[in-house]
Amino acid sequence: VELPIHEAVLGHADRFGDAPALIDGMDGTTLTYEQLDRFHRRIAAALAEAGVRKGDILALHSPNTVFYPVVFYAATRAGASVTTAHPLATAEEFARQLKDCAARWIVTVSPLLKTAKRAAALAGGVEEIFVCDSADGHRSVIDMLGSTAPEPAVAIDPAEDVAALPYSSGTTGTPKGVMLTHRQIATNLAQLEPAVTTGPGDRILAVLPLFHIYGLTALMNAPLRQGATVVVLPRFEPATFLAAIQNHRITNLYVAPPIVLALAKHPAVDQYDLSSLRYVISAAAPLDARLAAACSRRLGLPPVGQAYGMTELSPGTHVVPLDALHKAPPGTVGRLIAGTEMRIVSLTEPGQDLGAGEAGEILIRGPQVMKGYLNRPDATAAMIDADGWLHTGDVGYVDRDGWLFVVDRVKELIKYKGFQVAPAELEALLLTHPDIVDAAVVGTRDADGNEVPHAYVVRRPAADSLSEGEVMMYVAERVAPYKRVRRVTFIDAVPRAASGKILRRELRESREVQNAQEAQEA
Ligand code: ATP
Ligand code: MG
Repeated sequence: VELPIHEAVLGHADRFGDAPALIDGMDGTTLTYEQLDRFHRRIAAALAEAGVRKGDILALHSPNTVFYPVVFYAATRAGASVTTAHPLATAEEFARQLKDCAARWIVTVSPLLKTAKRAAALAGGVEEIFVCDSADGHRSVIDMLGSTAPEPAVAIDPAEDVAALPYSSGTTGTPKGVMLTHRQIATNLAQLEPAVTTGPGDRILAVLPLFHIYGLTALMNAPLRQGATVVVLPRFEPATFLAAIQNHRITNLYVAPPIVLALAKHPAVDQYDLSSLRYVISAAAPLDARLAAACSRRLGLPPVGQAYGMTELSPGTHVVPLDALHKAPPGTVGRLIAGTEMRIVSLTEPGQDLGAGEAGEILIRGPQVMKGYLNRPDATAAMIDADGWLHTGDVGYVDRDGWLFVVDRVKELIKYKGFQVAPAELEALLLTHPDIVDAAVVGTRDADGNEVPHAYVVRRPAADSLSEGEVMMYVAERVAPYKRVRRVTFIDAVPRAASGKILRRELRESREVQNAQEAQEA
């Protein structure tokens, strides 16, 4: 039987009864499975009574809290499609999303109410703003728990109806609304389940944002479907994060490379008891094998595994399974999950399939491929070909045992004099330097108009004597000549999206501004 997402996740909630489903890592507020199930039904009834109808878009605008899943499943039960919004978005950014998807309803939290109101005014078309906690003049979600309205009887077609409308990270351009049906999300959960076995007694730390599809799946849908406990934190801060692992005896971590980096370089990691951890997965951006190894060594953990996916894939296609952590080759993003097909095709001869060890574009076909981009038929057609293959825009290769390795994005490859240089490889190398705490590499133009690798480097606070020349030399001694870094700029922090991806676009734009200024001065 096919089920809508709230049924697929909470259909067995009664089996877990009084077990904690969600715990607030800051103040300890706990929701049991019984409460999660009962609360989301009450709120669904109240939302329906307030006017939420099947097919309406409801924007969920909140940091990670224990109420996040309650509202999400309530909204889908009422028949709405949930567009998840970045809690730190400006009113203008949020308004763009609201307008793009013609959202009718917003659920926010009181600290964000001002932004939500401004965004709604800018976008138009929003009927009502609900506030999770109580707030003057707005209906509160907490109060909805007292609703006596009947549960809505909405007929949901899992194959057609959109459950979630997350926006892609906007790494390569404007974020796009991705239509994911109930079936696509529920199918992907089932596909990932055999690899990522969790269950009652397991504790997952949810620090990555739930509004991003990675968090929504790994930190919410998957663990709640399996009866595990999710400990939520609103943001990453190393000391709070490490203390939460220790105090809540966390077993599973799903993180992104910046967190792996922060843990690998954190000075006081060994003051915490992290012995409860048994499965650590990084995804969303390239993670170098050396960095992964350094992190697991410092924390005394099993190897840090990886997973691969994208918003358009609901989101997963590859993961290093729990039972293969020790035998997976370093640097792999995992093995193809069941019910999914993959091809690696040539970058220079389109359509040409490549063999083991050869790097090309990753194409995916399977039941988790998105329904399409909202209101962007051309972008959808450019992404999914007539045979149903989704062109990921990522470069990778598969080894003889079927393990996938991701090199970088096709668009980010730097073309230096006919050679291709992957920024991710140079970034990983730079991070091995003891005085470099973070780095990003982008292609910029030199005086002759050639594209060259340009490194943006964050130095260790006490290491500001490290020079541009020394950085270039460090790389030159370790790579083929065409891969050398030809320009270095020291910066205070690498700009990153909430999901952990380097915003190379921003670095490139800042470089353009700089170039223009230099040209003017000259
Ligand atoms: P946009 O599509 O708006 O430019 P985005 O592609 O960053 O943004 P997401 O859907 O959040 O938006 O990210 C998917 C991308 O993340 C993949 O295409 C891939 O480039 C990258 N990615 C995910 N997992 C991994 C991984 N394990 N290793 C390397 N890259 C990864
Ligand atoms: Mg993308």
